[in-house]
Amino acid sequence: MSTSYLIKNVSVLGGTPTDLLLEDGVIAEGSSEEAEVIDATGLIALPGLVDLHTHLREPGREDAETVESGTRAAALGGFTAVHAMANTEPVADTAGVVEQVWRLGREAGYCDVFPVGAVTVGLQGAQLAELGAMADSAARVRVFSDDGKCVHDPVLMRRALEYVKAFDGVVAQHAQEPRLTEGAQMNEGELSGRLGLAGWPAVAEEAIIARDVLLAEHVGSRLHVCHLSTAGSVEIVRWAKARGVDVTAEACPHHLLLTDELAATYDPIYKVNPPLRSAADVEAVKAGLADGTIDIVATDHAPHPHEDKDCEWAAAAFGMLGLETALSIVQQTMVDTGLLDWAGVAERMSYAPARIGRVSDQHGRPLEVGEPANVVLYDPTATRTVDPAESASLSRNTPYRGMELPGRVVATFLRGKATVLDGKLA
Ligand SMILES: [Zn+2]
Repeated sequence: MSTSYLIKNVSVLGGTPTDLLLEDGVIAEGSSEEAEVIDATGLIALPGLVDLHTHLREPGREDAETVESGTRAAALGGFTAVHAMANTEPVADTAGVVEQVWRLGREAGYCDVFPVGAVTVGLQGAQLAELGAMADSAARVRVFSDDGKCVHDPVLMRRALEYVKAFDGVVAQHAQEPRLTEGAQMNEGELSGRLGLAGWPAVAEEAIIARDVLLAEHVGSRLHVCHLSTAGSVEIVRWAKARGVDVTAEACPHHLLLTDELAATYDPIYKVNPPLRSAADVEAVKAGLADGTIDIVATDHAPHPHEDKDCEWAAAAFGMLGLETALSIVQQTMVDTGLLDWAGVAERMSYAPARIGRVSDQHGRPLEVGEPANVVLYDPTATRTVDPAESASLSRNTPYRGMELPGRVVATFLRGKATVLDGKLA
């Protein structure tokens, strides 16, 4: 018999304090003598967070992250489900690989792992992968992405959008026009010229998003835009939604807080794809997330071993850790600024990503009696200084090291089982 928990005096989505009983994997009615009592005075309860964009690196780059280490980091960040991107070695482009990742997630048990299937064989952009076989596999793949690379060929993109309709899937596009970004290192602007680093222009992202929303409209399919980072991208998605296109979009925590000015340090900890943009872009992305043009926050958690980051800028890998700091960054940039309330955070970090990934039978559920007990308890009044050495990730590439961030995940429950208690892995 599993432990049950009585969470006392918790503010669900920031509302009036109440009690929550977690029993037999669900939120139960009333009270229980046997339940372990947690005094949650001052804490907020949110539905377990769902990340639509995580790199777990296994199979193939277990020096950077494993399914187990990445899902430990996820649980510590308040997540109960993550979608694992397909750019592993081998690439997750067959039923065999996605089932392997899915099984590793179940064995680790820290949060549910939903594998993302590659759109094209080997992420090579030449031939469609076995999308149907991945959808029919035990992993039930519904999100397909060549993330890390753009599905650039418009014919392949069109065929992928048509194909996934058969099983209610979605193509998640890494929008990067390859010819416009050859050798690109940072946001294109006055600063890239001054620093002598090749520019990654906003138009290379915006041109692909504009094309893809039109393709999605043309074939009547569902499109998701990964890590949208520019003011122009927000405008295009806003226009497409007003037109009735079935498009959703995500923003990453780092694009809500950090700007391209950090490239002036030449510290590759700030090198990411798409790059950190201008302060005006950051403001536009925040406004888009606040008004719902951008549907979700996704971490793009991208672990890299130190030898791939502790080198000169041009040689360094793109990417940043994100799972353990996402909720704090969203609090700092969106909640503490009055742009979102906690219900809005639940929508963008749990309900909406679960809907887009078609996992909302179990995740992204309201905290109500009878629902799965996927819950995070969060203390918004706490502060902490980010120490990379304390991360559960096997990698250390957090751009927030040494920064004081608001908030602390106190506990995470996956189907009523504590994965995190008192801020530590249970
Ligand atoms: Zn990407």
